[in-house]
Amino acid sequence: MKQNATLLNTLHNRLTISISDLDIDQVGDDHISTGIETPMRPGAFDLTDAEKIHTIEHHFAEIMHTLGLDLTDDSLKGTPLRVAKMYVKEIFSGLNPENKPKIALFDNKYKYNQMLIERDITLFSNCEHHFVPIYGKAHIGYISAGKVIGLSKLNRLVQYFGKRPQVQERLTMQIGRELQDILETNDVAVVIDAKHMCVSSRGITDTNSATVTSFYDGQFLNEKTKSEFLHYLGMKATD
Ligand SMILES: [Zn+2]
Repeated sequence: MKQNATLLNTLHNRLTISISDLDIDQVGDDHISTGIETPMRPGAFDLTDAEKIHTIEHHFAEIMHTLGLDLTDDSLKGTPLRVAKMYVKEIFSGLNPENKPKIALFDNKYKYNQMLIERDITLFSNCEHHFVPIYGKAHIGYISAGKVIGLSKLNRLVQYFGKRPQVQERLTMQIGRELQDILETNDVAVVIDAKHMCVSSRGITDTNSATVTSFYDGQFLNEKTKSEFLHYLGMKATD
């Protein structure tokens, strides 16, 4: 068994199976991940961005060529470079910790001691199993322990962690844990409500379903606080 293999308790038959026992399609279609940290290899940042773009351009051209596309066509010939730039500089730029937003803390001068909620934060990410988009909304709540951050920084944190190949559960936890670190409090809640193109446009081809994941800690673990948070989001607490 792999050291960090995720153990899954299947509800139906209470068998415990390991992710390493599953085939690649099962891992993808069931959206199983191995941990809260994005799995990075040693030396992930040895290459410069320019070198990564050059390498990805080459390999993406190979993919297109293998698919039978004519790379001398005027419409297609720039695609490998466009995709490479988009991967490194845009949609996967959150893999590089250097791109983490700089977040300044302010004193909570108003002594505002209720929960603060930023809801309907636009979220774009990509599924790490299929490399197609995940999109939806993130909702964040926290109760200040003395420090506050600029509201737009909450959006920037969501964007940063979204710009990685992701699974939604990990994305939710990464945002929650980061906010706890920054705000120096456990009192943080994150809810993500998102659609997965790998579910809607392929595989099971369900265009209606959405996936909701949550992170609650500190005061948000108590039912009254959690219910208040969900009330502001227009969601009902589950029993
Ligand atoms: Zn997927």
